[in-house]
Amino acid sequence: MVSQNVVVSDAKSGIITVSTVSNSSVFTPSAQKPPTAPGHISISKKKILKNLEINGAQSQRLNSWVDSMRASSPTHLKSLPSLSSQEELNSWIKRHPSALDMFERIIEASRGKQIVMFLDYDGTLSPIVDDPDRAFISSKMRRTVKKVAKCFPTSIVTGRCIDKVYSFVKLAELYYAGSHGMDIKGPTKGFSRYNKDKPSVLYQPAGDFLPMIDEVFKQLVERTKSTAGAKVENNKFCLSVHFRCVDEKKWSELALKVRSVVQNYPTLKLSQGRKVFEIRPMIKWDKGKALEFLLESLGFENSNDVFPIYIGDDRTDEDAFKLLQERGQGFGILVSKFPKDTNASYSLQDPPEVMDFLRRLVEWKQNSAMNVNNGVTLV
Ligand SMILES: [Mg+2]
Repeated sequence: MVSQNVVVSDAKSGIITVSTVSNSSVFTPSAQKPPTAPGHISISKKKILKNLEINGAQSQRLNSWVDSMRASSPTHLKSLPSLSSQEELNSWIKRHPSALDMFERIIEASRGKQIVMFLDYDGTLSPIVDDPDRAFISSKMRRTVKKVAKCFPTSIVTGRCIDKVYSFVKLAELYYAGSHGMDIKGPTKGFSRYNKDKPSVLYQPAGDFLPMIDEVFKQLVERTKSTAGAKVENNKFCLSVHFRCVDEKKWSELALKVRSVVQNYPTLKLSQGRKVFEIRPMIKWDKGKALEFLLESLGFENSNDVFPIYIGDDRTDEDAFKLLQERGQGFGILVSKFPKDTNASYSLQDPPEVMDFLRRLVEWKQNSAMNVNNGVTLV
């Protein structure tokens, strides 16, 4: 894990700056300072040059991203030969079985360990919709997540900015890792069930990039305004350019417009998600690092008694799936109806299946707590 500056906030005395976080990090408050410059990520010349090279030779990559988005669009999926797609799906399901079908096995694997939940938002807790401002979570799903958070430490890990995702989820007891994990906040004061004696966590490894992100946001809005349906979203520490309301024939043109802006900023990285291009600081930080940071802040940095479960649907969630695979702890669940290359162990088809899985987890936890209270020994 990289050593980077960390800021934690103290519920009583305000913000406290903490120097670094590393494998052996413990949050040791130092001086009381406002969180003016929490970033300080140094980027080597070599990396910048490498990124310039990538930007320079990116036409091919842009084309393959656009092709990949087209291939995953429902109109194209429907046109796949049904027999081969069914065979492909069956073989994929064998490799990534349904987490609902494998529920008992999952519970068995977690026995004696603390389950910690990590949940992506879009496409996991809420349906993917045309207008990203209207990706509402259902009240049933909110109630379910609330119950999950009563049973296990629970975090939302999303590409959205924290304020936006909080305006949808509205649960103060959760941890939130917004902007692909570059903006981390612990539960609101008085709502934390875990680590009550520790200050609430606040971590912003890309703080120094804020002015640049704002500048690029304005340029992207200007450059893409002539493309009908294009939407640029400012996620505070990263940007998203949404393609889903743009005519597919215009996707390549829009991709080129985005690149024409981003290529002038060699410290920013362009990547592709589900009908979206993401622009973020080129720092060694992603949803996997955010997961690791949150596990550390919950006191599980060197623990074998932890069982993290990460549920997500996007390419950016793969960093977290991979991390869990490398740690050999817990597992990832990919939300997808279609075969995809993934580091997740299991799959769920859509947000309703995610809700079923979360409900079963809650029921199991409540029943096992009841059995313990009644003196029943589970064999
Ligand atoms: Mg998602």
